[in-house]
Amino acid sequence: MKFISTRGGECVTGARAIAQGIAEDGGLFVPESFPQVTAEELQAMVPMSYAERAATVLHKFLDDYDFDELKAACEKAYAQFEEGDAAPLVRVDAGLYMLELFHGPTCAFKDMALTLLPYLLRKGCDLCGIREEVLILVATSGDTGKAALEGFKDAEGVKIMVFYPSDGVSKMQKLQMATQEGKNVNVLAVRGNFDECQSAVKRIFTSEQCKAELLQKGVVLSSANSINFGRLAPQIAYYFSAYLDLLSSDQIEPGEKVNFAVPTGNFGNILAAYYAMRMGLPVGKLICASNKNNVLTDFIRTGVYDKRREFYKTMSPSMDILISSNLERLLFEISGRDAARVRALMDALAKEGVYSLSDAERAQVQALFCGDFCGEDETVETIYEFFEEYQYPMDTHTACAMYAVENYRARNEKDHTPVVVVCTASPYKFPQDVMYAITGNDIKDSFKAIKHLNIATAMKVPKSLAKLRDKKVRFTAVADKDKLYAEVLKFVDQK
Ligand SMILES: *Cc1c(COP(=O)(O)O)cnc(C)c1O
Repeated sequence: MKFISTRGGECVTGARAIAQGIAEDGGLFVPESFPQVTAEELQAMVPMSYAERAATVLHKFLDDYDFDELKAACEKAYAQFEEGDAAPLVRVDAGLYMLELFHGPTCAFKDMALTLLPYLLRKGCDLCGIREEVLILVATSGDTGKAALEGFKDAEGVKIMVFYPSDGVSKMQKLQMATQEGKNVNVLAVRGNFDECQSAVKRIFTSEQCKAELLQKGVVLSSANSINFGRLAPQIAYYFSAYLDLLSSDQIEPGEKVNFAVPTGNFGNILAAYYAMRMGLPVGKLICASNKNNVLTDFIRTGVYDKRREFYKTMSPSMDILISSNLERLLFEISGRDAARVRALMDALAKEGVYSLSDAERAQVQALFCGDFCGEDETVETIYEFFEEYQYPMDTHTACAMYAVENYRARNEKDHTPVVVVCTASPYKFPQDVMYAITGNDIKDSFKAIKHLNIATAMKVPKSLAKLRDKKVRFTAVADKDKLYAEVLKFVDQK
């Protein structure tokens, strides 16, 4: 399987697409066609473990990787998850299921891909004959950074540097990153919001001068951000796995459609659901849930993507995003894979901060996607009401998706399609907000909030968060956004 750029420039192997991260022309790598999973193949995947299901889906795209090695890497990655199943599906009501993707080392769904990415990336480099040291640069709105650091710590031939907006992440997220262990890691806070942080990192990636200078030092850049196909591919697998779990527990008939509701920021997670559908998974609607930063809701409803708006900091910080990078991959598909059209839309976004779909393009988006958003008060209410009704504690991001589901069901009373809500973080990752929502108690200290939340819900506290309290803080630096490259050079030169 070959990969092409959404902006038309390149055609490369899967290994190259992953090693390189982003295409030379600034576009994103997409598979040249969607491999199909037939009904028979789906049936054959029912008895498989999560790791085997993941390897089977991944190998459809990454046929230049050895299947047995890939399977072994999946087994190793998903053995790090706490519940013995990396992506358990929990039934809370008739036709309503929670897909829990937060049992990994950092308690957010990013672990699903980032526990596997070190293998996909180093192997990808080896397959392409890249012998240099790989330097991963990551801009994070909170959860990616920690998951990437955990995934890559002490990996051979790789260094990783993570940048986060200085006041755009939760206390818990900051502490998780600041206490990161490992010899090959670095963490830097950047003054500004996530979009500014991400743009500053992207400038390093696209600068010929930076790249040439780093190469002289024996270093090549790569990204672990969600634009890397190596991030996207492992996410496709859990949509299949959720469907297979519904089949094996007789919740649905073979071929029956399922709706997925996804808390969305960069559009990576929900795009993986779209890819699964294009591979043949029976999907009804994809409910795209935003928080108060509702640029995607407006886009789906009107066909106009307009980032010229106020940026809000919310209690679901991993969705505080105005530029959803992975949307470019969807634009490529709905434009009929028209790279010139994608380039024009992306240019308009960069220059004017806005672009509009044609009526036909908008109709394609609306045929599958339904957009909604959840304000701060609604987030709190949803967590409270859902806990009252089902004794199921949700984190602030997942609550946005649940809220969108409730609205969707109220507006589409005739749609009885089963709904899977994608749970992207553990409630313990945002313990104060969840505790406040459930009990009305405003607890200042995160660890006290964890303790109280445990008492209120009886839900098990993830080990990695419980241990955090006693860990040494290693990284405290803050930098201006035009000083990032200088910090990268310092890190590269550090022995
Ligand atoms: C990253 C993240 C999201 C958003 O996912 P995208 O792939 O960027 O759309 C939602 N919830 C949580 C908890 C996250 O960490």
